[in-house]
Amino acid sequence: MSASLPESKNHSGELQHQTKCKICDDLQRVGQTLSLTLSQVSEAATGGCQTCSILKESCTYARDVLHELDAEQDAQVSLQIPVVDDGFPMIVGISDIDGGYSFNEVYTVSGCTKAPWLLIGEGSERTIITEKTIQVLRDWIDTCLTSHPACARQQKKLPTRVLDVSSHNPSLRASHGDKEPYAALSHCWGKSPLIQTHRDNLRDRFDAIPWKNLSKTFQDAVTTTRELGLRYLWIDSLCIVQDDPEDWARESGKMASIYEGAQVVLAASDAKDGHDGLLRPRSGSALPKSIFQGIKSNGNPYSIRIRKGDYHKWYGDALPPRSQSSPDSSPLSTRGWAFQERLLATRYVQFRSEELIWECRSALWCECGALTRPSQQREPLSKKAFYDTLGSAIHPELFSLWSKIVNAYAIKALTNGGDVLPALSGLAKQFQKSNAGTYLAGLWEADFPLCLLWEAHAVKASPYRAPSWSWASMDTSIPGSSLLTESTFESKTSYPTTVLATVESVSCTSDSSDPTGRISAGYLVITGKILDIIATEPVDNHEDTSMQGWFDWDARLARQPRPYGSKWIPRRRVENFTFRFHADTPLSDPRELTCLLIGEIPTSQAPRALVLRKLCLGVARWCMNASA
Ligand SMILES: [Zn+2]
Ligand SMILES: [Zn+2]
Ligand SMILES: [Zn+2]
Repeated sequence: MSASLPESKNHSGELQHQTKCKICDDLQRVGQTLSLTLSQVSEAATGGCQTCSILKESCTYARDVLHELDAEQDAQVSLQIPVVDDGFPMIVGISDIDGGYSFNEVYTVSGCTKAPWLLIGEGSERTIITEKTIQVLRDWIDTCLTSHPACARQQKKLPTRVLDVSSHNPSLRASHGDKEPYAALSHCWGKSPLIQTHRDNLRDRFDAIPWKNLSKTFQDAVTTTRELGLRYLWIDSLCIVQDDPEDWARESGKMASIYEGAQVVLAASDAKDGHDGLLRPRSGSALPKSIFQGIKSNGNPYSIRIRKGDYHKWYGDALPPRSQSSPDSSPLSTRGWAFQERLLATRYVQFRSEELIWECRSALWCECGALTRPSQQREPLSKKAFYDTLGSAIHPELFSLWSKIVNAYAIKALTNGGDVLPALSGLAKQFQKSNAGTYLAGLWEADFPLCLLWEAHAVKASPYRAPSWSWASMDTSIPGSSLLTESTFESKTSYPTTVLATVESVSCTSDSSDPTGRISAGYLVITGKILDIIATEPVDNHEDTSMQGWFDWDARLARQPRPYGSKWIPRRRVENFTFRFHADTPLSDPRELTCLLIGEIPTSQAPRALVLRKLCLGVARWCMNASA
């Protein structure tokens, strides 16, 4: 297809055309989504409208290249062209009669002659060849190093041990506090055996690690490190002595500074284990295709291309909202350890099967440019927003951010459940740097007692990980589990400002040299108003007659409240007063429970309480088991 269109534009930027097409209106800016049917567009294209023929090609591409459209359904296909971002590829949404939706991007290649349609902006293209991919990464690093003041870091000391990749067979090197740039790897260990450093091979690792013994992911990380002009690489399984608990606790406790200090963190996002690697051929099924060539009035030829649109859904999962309809399902994003690695890194590049995605404290880029589109910006979940909030060091906001982090982190998978606090230790240290105060088993002392109001749809973890008042005592990483902390179910405006309990003392005992890592014990002494209630009926009929699991119960007061004269207790007959709470363990008869009032939300006048469970009869010890 070839045509010549006039390039002249009027002052409002509209395309001048001999006879305007009634169907597409020549894609003049209408300020709203343009909705058309494929039959309308096809007819206008046959009648000579070049704009409509481009739109028609978008459907042909969806049908012939992407196999997203059924030819027999052509008559029912509709197109939606939203007018969103200036200068970016035009989005053509395609819906079929079955409710299927996909979208394509129509654009001219960045740096080439632009098309005369204002809606058809420029697009950068994803690399196919590995060498070019590395060049993209080099350019991003250069830009960040030279023009991002917020990403600038003083040269950090090398981690205790690093891989020296300057010879064919890399070797471990003790850093002795030297300051040199290095890369770090974030990866899934996976189920297949992974090369590790142990006490009995530590000495050999300092001589050489045979190339052939490295997994594909490690080989690719070494290659990339070299290509970036760096000599050192940090990989957890090789640089930490895995069977030395003291070395492990000390080194894993340094994650915050290791990932922050790395020149760049290479994330093997789509590799489920060491075999998959970083540098893989890109999928060719959705390669861009040229659909229109034209010549502008000044004689310059231009080419309009089309490609499959990509939701970039990985980004939505960075932190909640968890209602995000398309969470990231890449192997690395589901892993607990990788969660803090991403947030701690100053520069983090994801090797996805489709493209590279870059995140630093100033920018978020991908090869295709979609993440830079104004309409794609999703606040406030980026690394930049994370560090901006940390930098503000204002307590309610810090703790609100911590709640979001915990909610997102707690459901990630951990091979060793006992790592629940160690794999979050680096982030806790970042919060401590922002004056969050004393850290206690995943909670902050300055946020007590309101931070006790978490809800876990999960079972108690075994063996011991944390005291029962900490969310870390629950095994939330089992699929189907979830965790809600205070800020999730109350917006900041309705944050309970009336505190109804007093923390007398709280403490945790660290189990290692990492003060924000594993703990072996903890206690909390809290005083407040107590209510006795009886659970009456489950709110919903439940198939499971054992009444095990998590569901709502209605409840009533067991007896007149003790005479505290609290303003929240209604001054009506209290035995009809209904409470609702969640039970995480089977309730025994009589279903009498003791609740400790924690806080009151001013807007709803609804007190929130912890349900306490008696540990053994006749002894005045209570164990918190749920929030209500
Ligand atoms: Zn038209
Ligand atoms: Zn940067
Ligand atoms: Zn992209």
